[in-house]
Amino acid sequence: MKVAIIGGGPSGLYLALLLKRRAPHWSVHVVEQNPPDATFGFGVVLADTGLLQLQDADADSYDALCAAMRYNERQIIVQREQAIEVRLNVRGGAIPRLTMLQILEDQVQRAGVDIRFCHRIESIDDLAGLGLGDADVVVGADGVNSVLRRQYADELGTTQRALTNHFAWYGTKKVFESPALVFRKRDGGHFVAHYYAYSDEMSTFVAECDDATWRRLGLDRMSDDERHALFEDIFEPELAGRKLISNKSLWRQFPVIRNARWSHGRNVLIGDALASAHFSIGSGTRIAMTDSIALSRALLGCDGDVAAGLAAFERDHAPQKHKLIAASEQSYNWYERMAEWMDGLTAEEFVYQFMTRTGRVDDERLRAEFPELMRRLGRGGEAA
Ligand SMILES: Cc1cc2nc3c(=O)[nH]c(=O)nc-3n(C[C@H](O)[C@H](O)[C@H](O)COP(=O)(O)OP(=O)(O)OC[C@H]3O[C@@H](n4cnc5c(N)ncnc54)[C@H](O)[C@@H]3O)c2cc1C
Repeated sequence: MKVAIIGGGPSGLYLALLLKRRAPHWSVHVVEQNPPDATFGFGVVLADTGLLQLQDADADSYDALCAAMRYNERQIIVQREQAIEVRLNVRGGAIPRLTMLQILEDQVQRAGVDIRFCHRIESIDDLAGLGLGDADVVVGADGVNSVLRRQYADELGTTQRALTNHFAWYGTKKVFESPALVFRKRDGGHFVAHYYAYSDEMSTFVAECDDATWRRLGLDRMSDDERHALFEDIFEPELAGRKLISNKSLWRQFPVIRNARWSHGRNVLIGDALASAHFSIGSGTRIAMTDSIALSRALLGCDGDVAAGLAAFERDHAPQKHKLIAASEQSYNWYERMAEWMDGLTAEEFVYQFMTRTGRVDDERLRAEFPELMRRLGRGGEAA
């Protein structure tokens, strides 16, 4: 089997690794537009039980990723300038995105996968020029702006819309002691900073505001440099004199991408190319890597029948994918209304609502994990 993977992000590299580990005789190729020492963004969180799936799928890469992570046990949520600390009851931590990719690249190359860096594919036809025109399977692991998806948008039933909030992904040399979400009102505007340290030198800092703030306070007419300076000013108490650092940190509105069908002929989508996962659930990377696990399993088990393998991928993996993407949707819908919550809720009510926003955490779990918060909310369960 010959597999051409467009995109050397987490989903593409991980798929290549899993295929080559289990079928060393297969010809597996990754085409990546960036050089090996460059990527977008800063650090990402790899949290939650999803990590256990990575451990089951490939222990070597799991061990290497875990060794490079910085672990956290608490998160601070600030609303109305009142900080509430919540303990994170998850396995995992944060890792520089570049380190994560380099760990996977190293393992992929040692497994015998061919990676072509600095090659941008503009159309599937470009694969022929790289000797990959005869691939049995072409995988679009090329993220939210997927070329493969655009080329077959009708066949795949692609839909795309933008959320209304605006955000930019910065880094900073301030190493925050604890991850935090700071919701702050200023001049009638509603702002939030999501930040966490991902190494001993750096933290990720995602800046966000709603659309009403964007227009009312004139962010729509500012340059990216002016917005950058505005956020440094608003979050000066947290940054304490440290600057925000840009890595092509453009201000954007999050694209919600969905596909009615996951494959067309020999072409198949995974990761953000298939369904974009919102950054507020901190799980897009592992959701993308879970797609790789499912696709590798389907292809390795299809006995050379690619059509059957791709059908099995969608049939068997869709329930899990839909559940995770639904959690992402609940989460971004909550952020889309953040002004309403910031104006109307006390700090305790706000934190409660935040923690239950995806519908995956109920009162019973919160009572067990955050008894003090639940008592303050009158939800301690004593009367029940
Ligand atoms: C602000 C922000 C914060 C985030 N924080 C987290 C977090 O904390 N935890 C988490 O799990 N997730 C987080 N995510 C989400 C996460 O980054 C994505 O879900 C994840 O990267 C998806 O992986 P992927 O492999 O599908 O796509 P990508 O990571 O986008 O990789 C796609 C790859 O394809 C390459 N490529 C694209 N087009 C072409 C082309 N035409 N030719 C060749 N190569 C191409 C790109 O260079 C890239 O390397 C965050 C996202 C954002 C925007």
